[in-house]
Amino acid sequence: MTHAGGGPHRIQWTLAGVLLLVLALWLATAPFAGLAPTVFALRAPSLQGTGTLAIGVMSVAMVLATRPVFFEPWLGGLDRMYRLHKWLGISALVFSIAHWLWVEAPKWMTELGWLVRPARAARVPSTEPEPALQALLHGLRDPAEGLGEWAFYALVLLIVLALWKRFPYRRFFQTHRLLPLVYLVLVFHAVVLTSDGSWAQPVGIAMGLLMAAGSVAALVVLFGGVGRSRQAIAVIDAIGLPAGAGVLEVVVHLKSRWAGHDAGQFAFVRFDASEGAHPFTIISPWTGDGRLVFLIKGLGDYTRQLPTLLRTGDLLRVEGPYGRFNFASDKPRQIWVGGGIGIAPFIARLQELALRPDGKTIDLFYTTTEPRNGTVARLTAAAQAAGAKLHVLVETVEGRLDADRLCATVPEWHSADVWFCGPAGFGKALRHDLLAKGLAGRDFHQELFELR
Ligand SMILES: Cc1cc2nc3c(=O)[nH]c(=O)nc-3n(C[C@H](O)[C@H](O)[C@H](O)COP(=O)(O)OP(=O)(O)OC[C@H]3O[C@@H](n4cnc5c(N)ncnc54)[C@H](O)[C@@H]3O)c2cc1C
Repeated sequence: MTHAGGGPHRIQWTLAGVLLLVLALWLATAPFAGLAPTVFALRAPSLQGTGTLAIGVMSVAMVLATRPVFFEPWLGGLDRMYRLHKWLGISALVFSIAHWLWVEAPKWMTELGWLVRPARAARVPSTEPEPALQALLHGLRDPAEGLGEWAFYALVLLIVLALWKRFPYRRFFQTHRLLPLVYLVLVFHAVVLTSDGSWAQPVGIAMGLLMAAGSVAALVVLFGGVGRSRQAIAVIDAIGLPAGAGVLEVVVHLKSRWAGHDAGQFAFVRFDASEGAHPFTIISPWTGDGRLVFLIKGLGDYTRQLPTLLRTGDLLRVEGPYGRFNFASDKPRQIWVGGGIGIAPFIARLQELALRPDGKTIDLFYTTTEPRNGTVARLTAAAQAAGAKLHVLVETVEGRLDADRLCATVPEWHSADVWFCGPAGFGKALRHDLLAKGLAGRDFHQELFELR
């Protein structure tokens, strides 16, 4: 669960920046200069333009798939990086379809008799010998076109499956792993079919660099290198059901190096190689003793089975830490809102504050539909130790926490920033209403619980 400052606009600005930069570099080659405004005259530059935009955004998306923590401070955490990855993927889909339409639509229109294909100008054979590389690329044009078409169909299918929420996460994860392969085929298509004159221009140099970075990233993903340097082996020390059935507490002990983590950060945990890694917040502050604690709610098929699958002594792989839900702010007060299992990062922070107070006044709202005495008693004790004020709201009795109630409970909310972790719809509504009351967008920090 992540995010510090910046707000969702960082993602939009970054996406717009990538698109505008590639577009501007391409337009700087004056692609339409001197062309008649006919479909066939505009076809070749439009193919170059849509193709350049498509492979450009795909390359950035590919780089982000390697979880480069380097960009976390700018983008506000890995969850936001994945959100950007998703929008780059959607942009790639749009530009690829536009590219494909520029190939196919003129053919359909000609067949329907709506357009007449102009006679091809006879080629005057060059007297100069073609450079070897150029000759090689020209010779590969037919296979590049054929492969590009099939890779396009695969790309559309894989992206649609990724966006279709009903497609199970597990299957999405398996099918999405084919995308780097499709991307590499599309890089081959783009390299062979990019117009010869572009390579020496800024757009060609930029695309060359982007495709090189994207190809390295694709190989890292294909060969399982994502996050490898941040992985550690751990062993399960204890398993408990502190909040009753449905929420599992797993205490693990690291067997290999861990760089440490901040309260609010999360890790990808792989209990079982056949299942793959799932993201969970680390609810224990880092004290250097190698202990990590996770609180896991049975929210889906796999997490519901965990109580019967896990045993003390089992080995697991932990990858991280990730995320920027780190409570950093210059406000004297903070208001925290944890909905359901979204309470996890706040548990970590309360424990950290008990060890190292930061002098801020904190109001923690815990909203739940299933109040368990165990959880509430534990939270009360942790809040007391950290000097935070706890407000427990049972949604089934008191209704949902809204901005009016939050501001009435904390009249000094103007001097606070808000940290939210919980269901996406709840966060969206609360953010909207608090902003309407005058809270600055940068003062509402929300983790994105969904990476897809
Ligand atoms: C940053 C972050 C921190 C989280 N922290 C916690 C936590 O502390 N405690 C907790 O109980 N839950 C946490 N979750 C949610 C938890 O990861 C999912 O509930 C869990 O992965 C569901 O897996 P499933 O197979 O049981 O459910 P499914 O039915 O397969 O999936 C339910 C939903 O969970 C998400 N999901 C499933 N598998 C993965 C995966 N491998 N990687 C990413 N998302 C997946 C998808 O959005 C999916 O739609 C967190 C999620 C994120 C993104």
